[in-house]
Amino acid sequence: MTQPTPIRREAGPRHAVRWLRIVAPPSHSAPVSARSWCQCGFERTALDRASVLALVDAHAAHPTDCPLLGPEGSKAA
Ligand SMILES: [Zn+2]
Repeated sequence: MTQPTPIRREAGPRHAVRWLRIVAPPSHSAPVSARSWCQCGFERTALDRASVLALVDAHAAHPTDCPLLGPEGSKAA
């Protein structure tokens, strides 16, 4: 029996709301998917392993570009 393994991470309450959700079944043949969402409007989905890795990178790097989390705190969208 294979079950998806959802991993949920939430940013601290001091920051804009962000989610990174990854579904990575242990079975190699099962599809991997992930979704990254941010309160600023940033949203990405990944439907294969390579894209999930890229999405994780994008999610980790997002605060640098995020208008809600950026050092300038600008509202530039
Ligand atoms: Zn953002």
